Amino acid sequence: MLKEKLKQLVTQKQFTDEEIVLLLGLTDPEDCRILRDEAYARTTELMGDKVYYRGLIEFSNICTANCRYCGIRKANHQVNRYLMTKEEIVEQAVWAANQGYGSVCLQSGERHDEKYINFVCEVLEEIHQKTVSPILPNGVGITLSLGDHPKEVYERWAQASGNRENLRYLARFETSNQKLFDYLHSTPGKNEKNLQHRFECLKALRECGYQVGTGVMIGIPGQTLEDLCRDIRTFQKVDADMIGMGPYLMSEGAELGALGQRNPKELMQLSLNMIAVTRLVLGNVNIAAATALQVLEPEGREMGIEYGCNIVMPNISPLKYRAGYQLYDNKPCIEDEPTQCASCLERRILSRGRKVGWNLSGSSRKWLQRNRKPDEKLPFVSVKSDEKRQIWIKAI
Ligand code: SF4
Repeated sequence: MLKEKLKQLVTQKQFTDEEIVLLLGLTDPEDCRILRDEAYARTTELMGDKVYYRGLIEFSNICTANCRYCGIRKANHQVNRYLMTKEEIVEQAVWAANQGYGSVCLQSGERHDEKYINFVCEVLEEIHQKTVSPILPNGVGITLSLGDHPKEVYERWAQASGNRENLRYLARFETSNQKLFDYLHSTPGKNEKNLQHRFECLKALRECGYQVGTGVMIGIPGQTLEDLCRDIRTFQKVDADMIGMGPYLMSEGAELGALGQRNPKELMQLSLNMIAVTRLVLGNVNIAAATALQVLEPEGREMGIEYGCNIVMPNISPLKYRAGYQLYDNKPCIEDEPTQCASCLERRILSRGRKVGWNLSGSSRKWLQRNRKPDEKLPFVSVKSDEKRQIWIKAI
């Protein structure tokens, strides 16, 4: 495609499916730079120049499900299972709040027993209680990533959080291609995954007031650019507030070894294109730079930021548990203490012209707009994205 035509195309606000597929498939380095630069500028314009932290606490690798691509699926008996104590989880969340992280993300394998559901309630109550401060008057923001559950369970956790203004849930649907989804999840048993059910969960989360996050795996062998385009259309249908997606990576503990993995260089570019196109099509949503990008490129997360991400999730799980939470092979930072991760990350973010949103929870602009009362005036700060544009972003 002619460079001038491409430069024009990326500035559009609306795209046809054909245009999305074309942008996703860019491989020429100069073309990819054009896409990257527009995604970065659009992020500055719509979201500001800050990147927000979600301190990631992987508090348990016990899971009742058997997703075939996952290193901690139930049937993998090589994994040493763990559940952090309530005190350990709360301690990490308080540490994050004291370090200036505006929010934390609690992630675990999926469990449905009452003991676990209640345990999560107690953890959330205590985190809220211990992180309310003059700097964080509503306590540290919470993102949950705990799998598929009935609406009543989501509601119980929302109540326990004590902070619905800063409450998020990440439930990726992984792929909108029904056949591919079934292939990845075809594990007979009562906790077998179902794509329609995942969408019902997203609806229930919205009804409970969560900021709804979803996402997909990029570059699953057999997945086409048209599939990824449909994934982006599905993000629009779900009306997602935030997106978390990363490359499809193999795991020794999974049972899809035969499926293989795409060439790392191609997979990296496809992942970056997907991030950029999602930014251009969806606009003012939060997009996380997945740690998985670092497996393909040492500077993968920074590249994610350049292509439109505005969220990072530094791993703050205690070192002794890190090795047990390997959803995919060669996970980075499993030997770094949280303090090392945080300082190294800030340097990486600054190197890409962004700042860290210290003590801010970083709600997505989309969610703020949706929930603003008709007469509510928001406190704005101005952020200059370039010489020509002066735009206004809420300081939150
Ligand atoms: S992807 Fe999530 S639900 Fe599926 S097996 Fe892994 S941890 Fe469990």
